[in-house]
Amino acid sequence: MSVDATEVAIVGAGPAGLVLSHLLAARGIDCVVLEQRSREYVEHRVRAGVLEEPSVSLLRSLGLAGRLDREGLAHRGIQLAFDGRRHRIDFVELTGRSITVYGQQEVVKDLIVASSAEIVFDAVGVMPCAIDTDRPSVQYRHGDESHELRCRIVAGCDGSYGVCGPLIPHRTTTEHTYPFAWLGILAEAAPTQDELVYARHDRGFALYSMRSPAITRLYLQVAPDEQLAGWSDDRIWTELSTRLPLDDGFVLNTGPIIDRGITALRSSVSTPMRHGNLLIAGDAAHIVPPTGAKGMNLAIADATVMAAVIDEALHQHRPERLVDYGPACLGRVWRTQHFSHRMTTMLHRFDDDPFRRELQRAELLNLTSSVPAATDLAEQYVGLPFPTLEPL
Ligand SMILES: Cc1cc2nc3c(=O)[nH]c(=O)nc-3n(C[C@H](O)[C@H](O)[C@H](O)COP(=O)(O)OP(=O)(O)OC[C@H]3O[C@@H](n4cnc5c(N)ncnc54)[C@H](O)[C@@H]3O)c2cc1C
Repeated sequence: MSVDATEVAIVGAGPAGLVLSHLLAARGIDCVVLEQRSREYVEHRVRAGVLEEPSVSLLRSLGLAGRLDREGLAHRGIQLAFDGRRHRIDFVELTGRSITVYGQQEVVKDLIVASSAEIVFDAVGVMPCAIDTDRPSVQYRHGDESHELRCRIVAGCDGSYGVCGPLIPHRTTTEHTYPFAWLGILAEAAPTQDELVYARHDRGFALYSMRSPAITRLYLQVAPDEQLAGWSDDRIWTELSTRLPLDDGFVLNTGPIIDRGITALRSSVSTPMRHGNLLIAGDAAHIVPPTGAKGMNLAIADATVMAAVIDEALHQHRPERLVDYGPACLGRVWRTQHFSHRMTTMLHRFDDDPFRRELQRAELLNLTSSVPAATDLAEQYVGLPFPTLEPL
């Protein structure tokens, strides 16, 4: 067995783990990232694509936004479509801030290429040990060799199916599962809009978004047990044309579908987010339905708080600060859960209940006719300020 040492062992090279590694490096804290997948795999995994303004500001402050600023698409607002018509929510007018559309895999590529930390890809059987002692470690295999990485803190940034969360004893999960899923496609078709279009339709929700000037990202609400095999390209484009507001002048470009997948929609928050010297961030601790475009941003927000508590614990000799990590994150996590749930329930078809349908219309009418209501949505969409630690 080969034995190495670092200050922080980070499990997972997604947005949470990679942003944390940069924040720690900026504070002079040594870390190693252990990732079970290959570099090729994580750099091409298509997932989220909307960066809140606080996320973009953070990446800029770390000097990581060069390509993001060149290639990201700055969006001034979104459009809400219902009853066949589109209505704009102008973020810049309402809040003075905007969002940036830039694929999560591009963020991940930028973070990896600029990393000064060692990133071990293809790490097999990663398992944190002795997390409730002063000498935790992480064991894993790489190639034919077994490794032990000794550290002072383990950062569990390993997503919703990772190994770190379940190591927290007496963990409580508060969750909600929605009675539908999303069928998402990536198509080689130039976007015709420069803003996302969220469409509420009696056949179900549809979302029009984009990843670059040549690639469109589209989603359809489908049944929770839907199989991809039942969706030919023709059926996908026909359904999108039906649900998106073509009668309102909206144009849908079609093209070859280069990626497709079905994602279940759920909300969950697991607490506590720490046990001993193990801290959990991002999807490992909480999941939001993608309607509010918040998952990657919440992961980045957690990483900022985690870096701050680790800095205080290791460099200012205040290990008791680790206790403050979860409570500092959770207020913003729950506000974001509420926003994501609200966007989801306002826009999806649940059943044939006419009462619920009319309530959805009333909420959409309110949002698109009241400046205070639209401002509230805009502020949350562009991103609440990142949480900070209470001063001692
Ligand atoms: C399938 C899927 C589709 C999504 N689509 C959208 C979308 O369309 N729009 C949207 O807004 N949001 C979407 N999201 C949400 C968003 O992408 C996530 O919130 C975001 O990736 C969270 O970042 P993270 O770093 O916490 O976790 P992740 O990005 O999941 O990163 C965790 C990393 O840990 C690694 N890992 C896991 N287990 C281990 C282990 N045992 N050892 C070592 N490494 C491990 C994983 O390989 C991964 O690289 C999607 C999420 C998923 C899972």
